[in-house]
Amino acid sequence: MSDEAKEGEEFTLEADSELRFEIEDKDAKVFVTLISGFAEMFGTELVKKKKYEFLTGAKVAIFTYHGCVLNVNGKTDVSYISKETPMVQYLNCHAALEQMRASAEEKDERGPIAMIVGPLDVGKSTLCRIFLNYAVRLGRRPLYADIDVGQGSISIPGTIATILIERPASIEEGFSQTAPLVYHFGHKGPGSNNVLYKATVSKMAEVTLESMNVNKRTKHSGMIINTCGWVKGDGYAHLLHTAQAFEVNAIFVLDQERLYNELLRDMPSFVRVVLLPKSGGVVERSRDLRSEQRDLRIKEYFYGHRTPFYPFSFEVKFQDLKLYKIGAPPLPDSCMPIGMKAEDNKTKVVAVTPSPSLLHHILAISFAESTDEDVIGTNVAGFVCVTDVDMDRQTITVLSPQPRPLPNTVMLLSELQFMDIV
Ligand code: ADP
Repeated sequence: MSDEAKEGEEFTLEADSELRFEIEDKDAKVFVTLISGFAEMFGTELVKKKKYEFLTGAKVAIFTYHGCVLNVNGKTDVSYISKETPMVQYLNCHAALEQMRASAEEKDERGPIAMIVGPLDVGKSTLCRIFLNYAVRLGRRPLYADIDVGQGSISIPGTIATILIERPASIEEGFSQTAPLVYHFGHKGPGSNNVLYKATVSKMAEVTLESMNVNKRTKHSGMIINTCGWVKGDGYAHLLHTAQAFEVNAIFVLDQERLYNELLRDMPSFVRVVLLPKSGGVVERSRDLRSEQRDLRIKEYFYGHRTPFYPFSFEVKFQDLKLYKIGAPPLPDSCMPIGMKAEDNKTKVVAVTPSPSLLHHILAISFAESTDEDVIGTNVAGFVCVTDVDMDRQTITVLSPQPRPLPNTVMLLSELQFMDIV
C-alpha cells in the first residue's frame, strides 16, 4: 500500500452496502483504494490495492456484495455509506437477462434486446453500465445503443450511437469508445425534430439488428438501449417507436409507476416490462449542469479526458465545403409540391451557405459523399467545430481531431455549439 493510501480515511462496508461520494471542488482529486474484500463501481470490479483517481464532478457509488474496507484520500463533498440500495434487484434483472441469453444461445436466436426507460436523473445510464458490465464479465459481447441525444454516454451530444462492449468499463474512464456507430441528429432534444429523430432511430435499429446476425456471440448477448428522460407526450411516442424499431423484448422502467403502467398497456405480451426503484444515490442535475456536461463531452471529444488529445486547427475554403443541414422550415401542406407532406420537409437535406452564424457550431462529417446518397441513413466519421468565419477570405477555421484535409464528404450542421476556450 502506498503512503498516500494510508493517509486517507478508512470506510468499512457491510455486505450489500455502498459508499457514495461526490467531488465538487474545482481541480480536486480523490483517491480510492480497496484494502480488503470485494467491491465494484457500477458493475466494474475494483482491483485490490490499486489506487483509483476521481476528479471534479465525479458522482460515485462503490458497492460491495460481500463486505469490504475502502480507503478514501482527498476532499469529497458528501461521503456516506448507504445500506439501502437496489443493487440486489438489479442483479436479479441481470440474471433474467442472462437466462434469455442462455436460451438464445441454445436456439441460435437473438438474445435480449432490453430498453431502459425513466424520467431524468433516475440512473438509466448507470443501470445500462451495470447490466453491460455484468454481461461482459460473464463472457458476453452485447451492443450498447444510446439514443439519448442530450446526455448520451457514447458520442457527443446531438447524436445517437452504438458500441460493442468487449470489456468492462474502466473505473475512471467508462467504456472504451473504439469504433462507435454514430448517426447525426443535430439537436439537444428529440422534440426539435421528431420526424428526423424517428427516422434516425429506425436507421440505427435496422443497422444494429442486422449486424447482430453477422456475429453469433453478439447475437446471443443482445443489446442494452439507453433512452432519453422525456417520457410524456411525443417523448412517450418515441419510446413506443424505439421498442418497435429495435424489436425490444424487455423494458426496465426506473422509478415511474405511471410510465410502467402505460407500457404494460401498450406493449405486446412478449415484451417483459419490469418496474425498478431508482437508487437513492442518483444525483439530480440542474439545467445548467446538464448544459455544462454537454459542453464537457464535446471538449473531451477534441481535447481528451485523462489522456490529452491534441486537435488540429486549419482553414477550409467555402468552395471546398459541402455543407448541409437537415430539415427545412415548415410550410403549410397547401404550399407543398403535389405528393409531399409538410413532414417531408423535416428530413429534407438543405444546402447551407457559409455565414458568420456558423461560428462555434459543430459540423458532423458524414460518410456520404453527396446528397444523392441517403444522408440521414449514413453514419458519421467524426466532428469538427467552427472556430472562425472569414467572410473576406471566404474561409472557415475548424478545430479537428484529424489533420487537414477534411474528407471530401457531406458535412452536416449541428445546432450544438462549443466555445473553444481551453
Ligand atoms: P440518467 O441516465 O437517468 O440521467 P445517470 O445514470 O446518468 O442518470 O445518473 C446520474 C448521476 O448519478 C451520475 O453522475 C451517476 O454517476 C450518479 N449515480 C448513479 N447511481 C449512483 C449511486 N448509487 N450513488 C451515487 N451516485 C450515483
